[in-house]
Amino acid sequence: MKMDLPINATTQSAPHKTRLTDGFGRNVTYLRVSVTDRCDFRCTYCMSENMTFLPKRDVLSFEELSEIVGRFIQRGVTKVRLTGGEPLVRRDIMALIARLSKYLDGGQLKELTLTTNGSQLARYASQLVDNGVRRVNVSLDTLEEDKFARITRRGRLKQVLAGIDAADAAGLNIKINMVAMRGFNDMEIEPMMVWAHGRGFDLTLIEEMPLGEVSGNRSGSFLPLREVHDQLAGKYRLEKIEHKTGGPARFVRIGETGGRLGFITPMSHIFCESCNRVRLTCTGRLYLCLGKENNLDLREPLRQKGLAGLDEALDKAMILKPQGHDFDHSRKHPALDRHMSVTGG
Ligand code: SAM
Ligand code: SF4
Repeated sequence: MKMDLPINATTQSAPHKTRLTDGFGRNVTYLRVSVTDRCDFRCTYCMSENMTFLPKRDVLSFEELSEIVGRFIQRGVTKVRLTGGEPLVRRDIMALIARLSKYLDGGQLKELTLTTNGSQLARYASQLVDNGVRRVNVSLDTLEEDKFARITRRGRLKQVLAGIDAADAAGLNIKINMVAMRGFNDMEIEPMMVWAHGRGFDLTLIEEMPLGEVSGNRSGSFLPLREVHDQLAGKYRLEKIEHKTGGPARFVRIGETGGRLGFITPMSHIFCESCNRVRLTCTGRLYLCLGKENNLDLREPLRQKGLAGLDEALDKAMILKPQGHDFDHSRKHPALDRHMSVTGG
């Protein structure tokens, strides 16, 4: 496997014990945790129709997950996002969230949040609030029932909208994530924006990334967000704002709606220079970049040597974090074999 090591990686001493700083001087402050690779949907750009999921015995227990997350927090991580697969379909997920929320009480963790497809939000919204969650990202690519059924393969739009209503009523701030796809929902971007802003939600558009084998060729549906930006700018006032969520989105405020619109452009604009993120899978593998294979196991070091083993592994991981990624949508095959559900986006 080819890895992008910093120029002096072989001679470089391990980064300082307390903070997690990579070989390019970037501090890691944001951990995304895929708590399960399973999902109740099979979005066409994310999964294939027939997925083989991990055997349950390979998945970290909540004790192990919270031990690892806790160590990241002690070493400078201030934001944790639970994702998946669908985080809210993991059995007893609220027990994990309750454990992690203790770090919010202590003030070391500034934000505990999640990205969800919304299918279970009606059930969990108020418990999330009770456990200190203030914001959620809900993925929603279309407001048309038949298209929703087609893109998710097994989702029901009504259920997700009810989940969004419940989250809103519980007082959660909501950001809608929409993967922009040419020929599928490009005509719906503007209506989605008007709907989201009308409800007081932010909307973030995401460029489709070539991760994992899915049925069909992605290159036809790739839509550069620069194009969308320029089209909207012909009709609306797009005011640049400095709003930061700790993630890779760049935001504008839409003069006419007063709402925020974010653009996540992994394909057409490389945002790696300010990358502060790493991703933990539900088996304890740490991915240092969404677009590259650089990764390392944390489970065995933790099981064999406890926190000392974990610290050693984290120091090694910092040296493995690549400078950046570059995707090419013109290729027939995915840039990586790994599906988005493994690392959670
Ligand atoms: N199941 C949850 C959900 O859908 O929000 C969380 C996991 S999902 C993998 C996280 C985000 O990744 C979603 O917003 C989804 O739309 C996005 N995503 C999945 N596959 C993608 C791809 N190939 N390109 C761009 N975004 C993708
Ligand atoms: Fe499931 Fe989220 Fe992937 Fe859709 S994008 S299949 S909801 S993990």
